[in-house]
Amino acid sequence: MASQHNPNLSKNASLVHAFLARHGSPASAYEILDGLRDKGISAPPTIYRALDQLVARGLAHRVESLNAFVACDHPAHDDANGFAICEDCGSVQEFMDPKVVSALNALAKAQDFDLRHATIELAGQCAACRVEASHV
Ligand SMILES: [Zn+2]
Ligand SMILES: [Zn+2]
Repeated sequence: MASQHNPNLSKNASLVHAFLARHGSPASAYEILDGLRDKGISAPPTIYRALDQLVARGLAHRVESLNAFVACDHPAHDDANGFAICEDCGSVQEFMDPKVVSALNALAKAQDFDLRHATIELAGQCAACRVEASHV
């Protein structure tokens, strides 16, 4: 699918997706709610339903360790994905590496474990913050 626009999304899910894409860094459900209040969304369940829809379609991900959500910029997805989270500025880079996916699958297989879904979250410092730190 080449188009960014998804006609099957509900209006609220489209609003939430646009908010996350604009936001650029992880946003909690309450930050999303705050950001969309002027669009007529005022109830947390509305936000959660919209997020469920986006996550189910791979248009957004939940960053577990931050309890926040990011828009996904990888249209084609494997089951496993990871995030590099900067502890200084809060930015999140999504990454995917087939080597990681196959390593996780091999690990699960060795444990006779039926892997359905895996998320890797790395905490550290992003390149931009490292550059800033070295100039102080
Ligand atoms: Zn993604
Ligand atoms: Zn940073």
